[in-house]
Amino acid sequence: MFDIETIKANGLCSGCGLCAGLGTGDTPAIAMRDTPEGLRRPERVGPVSPQMAAVIDRACPGVNIRHDPAEHEAEYHSVWGPVVGARLGWSTDDDLRRNASSGGALSAILTHLLISGEIDYVVQTAVSEDSPVRNALYVSTGRDEVFHAAGSRYAPSSPLEDISKRLDSPGRFAFVGKPCDVAGLRQLARIDRRVDEKVSYMLAFMCAGVPSYRGTSAVLAAMGVKDESQVTAFRFRGDGWPGYATAQMADGTRFTMDYNTSWGSILNRHLQFRCKICPDGIGEFADIVCADGWHCDEKGYPLFEEQEGRSIVLSRTRKGEELVLRAMNARNLACEPLEIEQIRHIQPFQARRKGLVLPRLMAMTVMGRKRPRFKNLSLFENVRALGIKESVRSMLGALQRLVQAGDRQI
Ligand SMILES: Cc1cc2nc3c(=O)[nH]c(=O)nc-3n(C[C@H](O)[C@H](O)[C@H](O)COP(=O)(O)OP(=O)(O)OC[C@H]3O[C@@H](n4cnc5c(N)ncnc54)[C@H](O)[C@@H]3O)c2cc1C
Repeated sequence: MFDIETIKANGLCSGCGLCAGLGTGDTPAIAMRDTPEGLRRPERVGPVSPQMAAVIDRACPGVNIRHDPAEHEAEYHSVWGPVVGARLGWSTDDDLRRNASSGGALSAILTHLLISGEIDYVVQTAVSEDSPVRNALYVSTGRDEVFHAAGSRYAPSSPLEDISKRLDSPGRFAFVGKPCDVAGLRQLARIDRRVDEKVSYMLAFMCAGVPSYRGTSAVLAAMGVKDESQVTAFRFRGDGWPGYATAQMADGTRFTMDYNTSWGSILNRHLQFRCKICPDGIGEFADIVCADGWHCDEKGYPLFEEQEGRSIVLSRTRKGEELVLRAMNARNLACEPLEIEQIRHIQPFQARRKGLVLPRLMAMTVMGRKRPRFKNLSLFENVRALGIKESVRSMLGALQRLVQAGDRQI
């Protein structure tokens, strides 16, 4: 059985907040905290009941990513998971398209849901009101709030940290999160029927991993920011596609950095360990998942030059597909067709990601760490496709990281 101490000690926590969110009443049993390593982690602050412990063990996405094939409404693609519909899309609201991460498809769908009255509110993540360089759970009830929350924030987030209170409150909502957040909520739905009653849609974005807040600080420092407390506004990207990381300072100066440098040279070196063994970077448990719809050069490599935003839009359930069609019919979302086999050129990292998982799990076994339960994800097919050389390299990399980590939070 996995409890939060075992989960953290084995490097399996993704910081989603599900365990903390299971608490009811005024005295929480578990609270989410920022750690000195710049991660979000749960801490026990009261007694955890046996029932709550059992739900954590079964639903925590850090230790469980388990498909039930009976739940799939489309054939399972070994790399891209269940896909009912595949498109490239963007928001028809030009301001939203520009402000969003890669085309604003997610925000366009959310806005459609709110305008049409299908949901009462959205649970998502935005900049914290307390600090321009921190994230916070954010509730939107209209287009302007969705606009405010649009854009990727490459730092820890815990969008499930008040989930039980939300499930007990009036109103139906759409939930947006990282693939692990959505997997946690879907796994909770298997044992808690309030989820299907209250959560109308689960939306995700593809995710290459969550960088710690140390990554945010490293980006700011590399931009030339000497004193983080003088930052008045910060975005990781957006305001264009992919847009620039931009820090606005109290004295009116502005620092910027291009996406290729901020993500490719800095943030991706600050990923938490759990993301290194992630078998679902592509939101397989969501109703709809969106991702960057990069244009490719003649050799098929993604280009990061500034363009008008474009997102990949994959519907994974019939209800997700029907929602995409409704948002298109209402002219909130514009789309063009996408062949599934094209996705590997647009998202080359995600295309090989699942193959990296088993070698890294092997490294965990060698180091005496407890392994998570990953089920029905075609991991064997993917490691076979990756080949021996890459697998060995992947395993050695994980071993090195675990040796270096020692007892530290990873
Ligand atoms: C940590 C991280 C890693 C990512 N890795 C990839 C990747 O490997 N490949 C890829 O194609 N795309 C990745 N993305 C997603 C990508 O940047 C876009 O979000 C995606 O293309 C959808 O764009 P959009 O314009 O449709 O979304 P938007 O309309 O801009 O909406 C973005 C949504 O994401 C939510 N959000 C932003 N940051 C967070 C966060 N930290 N935690 C939870 N929710 C958040 C917002 O609340 C908003 O609802 C990543 C995003 C993050 C935050």
